[in-house]
Amino acid sequence: MSVTAWTLSHNDRDLLINGAFEAKTGSYSPYSKFPVGAALLASDGTLIKGANIENASYGGTICAERTAIVKAVSEGKRGFVGLAVVTDVPAAISPCGLCRQVIREFCALDMPVLLVPGDYPKPDDGSEKKPGVTEGGVKETTLGELLPDSFGPEHLELPRK
Ligand SMILES: [Zn+2]
Repeated sequence: MSVTAWTLSHNDRDLLINGAFEAKTGSYSPYSKFPVGAALLASDGTLIKGANIENASYGGTICAERTAIVKAVSEGKRGFVGLAVVTDVPAAISPCGLCRQVIREFCALDMPVLLVPGDYPKPDDGSEKKPGVTEGGVKETTLGELLPDSFGPEHLELPRK
């Protein structure tokens, strides 16, 4: 795994983590009973929160990460500096593939992504020694690490024969 070029301040890190927990309280997940919260920090300093919103059709369900992205973009935000995601599981849970692609549309590949365990902050039990695992048991990664060799908007600008 590559070394993450860390760009979030401690303040922004706390803002994102707390925001993800707050966002999770808005989850509508009567079917999976798997609440998820996501917080997205825009480059103008705005924090946008999203939760997973399920649907009786199941297919109409939208994840927390996409809720946050869609809320932000529809309000005119285009630049983002970080994303945090939390569930009730006491481990770092990653965004699904569909969300990774949607995040890819609007966020830089080196944008930090914080995968927050539901029991954050975990006590220091030595797990911070694991790659990418940092203070409180948060796994710090990037969009590029979550979605390597990805397809994005710039590919549609390439010359074609
Ligand atoms: Zn998802």
